[in-house]
Amino acid sequence: MERRKVTFKLYPNARQRQMLNEWLRLHAELYNAALQERIDAYRKAGKSISYYDQQNTLPAIKQDRPELVPLGSHALQETLRRLDRAFQAFFRRVKAGKTPGFPRFKSSRRFPGFSYPDPAGWKLMQHGTRGATLRLGSGKNALMIRARGKHRFGDFTPNDVTLIHRRNPRTGHSEWQASITLRVPVEACARNRTGSESVGVDFGVSHWANYDDGSQTDNPRWVREAAPKLAALQRERARKRKGSHRYRQLSERIRNLHEAIANSRRDFIHKQTTALVQRCELIATEELQTGKMSRSARGSLEKPGKRVRQKAGLNREILSAGLAMAHQMLRYKVTETGTRLHLTNTRQLKPSQRCSGCWNIVSKTLADRVHQCPSCGLSMPRDQNSARVVLYDAWTPNNSPGTGEAARAKPLATTVAKSNSVTRETPTTADLA
Ligand SMILES: [Zn+2]
Repeated sequence: MERRKVTFKLYPNARQRQMLNEWLRLHAELYNAALQERIDAYRKAGKSISYYDQQNTLPAIKQDRPELVPLGSHALQETLRRLDRAFQAFFRRVKAGKTPGFPRFKSSRRFPGFSYPDPAGWKLMQHGTRGATLRLGSGKNALMIRARGKHRFGDFTPNDVTLIHRRNPRTGHSEWQASITLRVPVEACARNRTGSESVGVDFGVSHWANYDDGSQTDNPRWVREAAPKLAALQRERARKRKGSHRYRQLSERIRNLHEAIANSRRDFIHKQTTALVQRCELIATEELQTGKMSRSARGSLEKPGKRVRQKAGLNREILSAGLAMAHQMLRYKVTETGTRLHLTNTRQLKPSQRCSGCWNIVSKTLADRVHQCPSCGLSMPRDQNSARVVLYDAWTPNNSPGTGEAARAKPLATTVAKSNSVTRETPTTADLA
C-alpha cells in the first residue's frame, strides 16, 4: 500500500459554510484553551502537561460543552495533537540552539483547519468525472458537501482528511478545501511510461532544467515577475509605520503573493516532473544539496558578498524551494513509472567541475558559464556538461567514486571505492508500466 494525497475544493452551501465556520471556531477555542492550560500549569506549578493528560480530559469537557460532541472525538484529539506537535517542534528547535517562537494563540479567523485522523466520521464519494461529495459527521446532522476534484486511483482506502480553511490569495475570498490521504495499492499508483529515454539533468537558477543534450526548460514567467513584485511591495512596506493600517494591508498583500507563488510553483513542478518520469527510463541528477541554491548573494556577516542585489536574493529564495520539491516529487513519481532515478554524490564527483569528455577536473567559478577543457578540448555550456557527467555516472556499472584528487580518465579503474550515489529502481512497477 502506498499513500497518496489528493485535494478537493469544497463548495459548501450557506448553511454548511456556517457549520464549518462554527466547527472551526470550536477547534480554535479548544486549541487555545489547551495552550493556556499548558502555560498555566507551567507558570503555577512548574509542571508540563502532555498530550495524553489533555486527551484524557476531553470526555469531561464534552459533558460541559455538548456543542463539541458533533465534531467527533478523534477530530478533537487531532487538534490537541496539533498543539502537541507545535510544542515538540518548539522544544526541538530550542535544543538545537535556535530561537523559535513559542506556540501562539490563534484566532478562529486564522486557524488553518481541522482533521479527521482516521476513516471514521467522514466519507468521500466520487461521481465519475462530475466531481465528488464529502460527507462529514453521520446521521441526520451529517453535512453532504459538494466537492470538485478527481483522483486517478480506482482502488483506494480512505485514510484521513484535513479540512483546510484559507483565503484564496488571488481573490481574497475565504474558501474550504479537503486534503485527503488515500491508501492505494501499488498497482493503482502505476503510471504509464510513454518513452524510454535516458536523461541527465542539471537543475539550475537561470533555467529550471538543463539536459545532457543541450536542451533546456525555462523558468516559468512568474519566477521573473514575482521577485520584482515582491521587492516593490517590501520596499513600500518599509516606508510605513509598523503596525499601522497600511502596514498591515501591505503585509497581507505580501502574504498573498507568497502563497500565489507557492501555488504556481507546486503546479509547475508537478507538471514538469510528471512529464520527465513519463518519457524517461533513467533520470540522472545531482543529489539534493542543502544550500546549493539558497547560498545568499549577501554572503555571511563575516564574508559579505559582492554585487549584492535584493532581487537576486529573492529569486534564489523562490527557486531553492522548488529544487527540494522537484526532488521529492521525482522520488515518488519514479516508483510509479518504474524509472531509475540516479542521484550522483556531488562531493565525490563534482559534476560542475568535471569534464564529460575526459573525466578530468576543470576548475571553474560560478561565473564561468562555458566548460572549456584544456586536456581534450571539449567546449560546451557549463550546465550541459554537468548534466552529461551525472548521466555518465549513472551508466558506469559501479558508479564513479569521483574522489576528485588525481584526474582519472574514463573508463574507471576497477579498484575504486564504492560511491555513495543512490540509485532507486523499482522492477515491480517497471513491469506494470
Ligand atoms: Zn576534457
